[in-house]
Amino acid sequence: MYKLKMVYGPVPSRRLGRSLGVNPIPFKTCNYSCVYCQLGRTTHMTNQRKDFFPPEELLNEIRRVIEAESSHREIDFVTFVGEGEPTLCKSLGWLIRKTKEIADIPIAVDTNGSLLYREDVRNDLSQADIVMPSLDAGTVETYRKINRPHRGLDFKAVVEGLERFRRDYNGEIWVEVMLVKGLNDTERELKALKSRLEKIEPNRTYINVPIRPPAEPWAVPPDKDAITLAHAILNDANVVDITEEETGEFSTEGFTNPEDAILAIIRRHPMREGQVIDTLRNLSFKKKALPKKYNIRDSIKRLEKSGKIKKLKYQEKVFWLTMEEKRGHD
Ligand code: SF4
Repeated sequence: MYKLKMVYGPVPSRRLGRSLGVNPIPFKTCNYSCVYCQLGRTTHMTNQRKDFFPPEELLNEIRRVIEAESSHREIDFVTFVGEGEPTLCKSLGWLIRKTKEIADIPIAVDTNGSLLYREDVRNDLSQADIVMPSLDAGTVETYRKINRPHRGLDFKAVVEGLERFRRDYNGEIWVEVMLVKGLNDTERELKALKSRLEKIEPNRTYINVPIRPPAEPWAVPPDKDAITLAHAILNDANVVDITEEETGEFSTEGFTNPEDAILAIIRRHPMREGQVIDTLRNLSFKKKALPKKYNIRDSIKRLEKSGKIKKLKYQEKVFWLTMEEKRGHD
């Protein structure tokens, strides 16, 4: 059995059902360092597009997972998402096109939207069925505070890139707004955001809050009143609230060892303790490979003792993270 490196899942997604994640970017390589990032602070800040992994290798991994019949049935979307910003991958357009040739599965791109001012990026993304850019600020001051962008990025150009993409693109644009207490949850900020969104005209706007441990421990969800205010101001038939956690099972497809599966999933996606246990219980596909008296909690203890994972309490819930993530909590 091969080990998946750049393709993972399918994982449950609040917006996309069961999503097969494709990660064309090395860990925490981004042109933002968002205060709420669930992967921790950006360690490789870059604004330069290039191929970080051989594109053919990425495509081979995508093909292998899609062609495994059991996975195929379970995939609602192939999502280019990454452990950083996926549009930094120079071959993204080629990868989307080739993936479409492999299977008739809709393709989504989860992006911070910052590079849409570039024509090559707009062309690449125009081949996807759904593009999900972020927009967390209506003013340059808040943009700098919340997204902490690469110095080569200009807020005005970023917003105009989103507007331009809307004009040229026939697919769906689902904008995600991450609300962070004290940063973008005031009436003034929300009204500024609303006027930007009116020009972008997304098909949907998702209101989200940091539900998993963020890069900065102070980046917490706004109070309920502020979320109500956000709904009132951003008020539109297409606004969807995703401030609740997703449910559903994470796939262990492609792994013979449950501990490897857990590490691969939480590396991209910090998990609540209950989710770790549910995932480890989902072992029917490889029962033969496991010891007869397999104990889930022993697995977790072993991973913790070896220093590969650590526990973190955030918003009254216990999460497990891989030690690779360098967060501001230490
Ligand atoms: S949330 Fe996305 S855009 Fe922001 S730092 Fe993390 S990977 Fe980059």
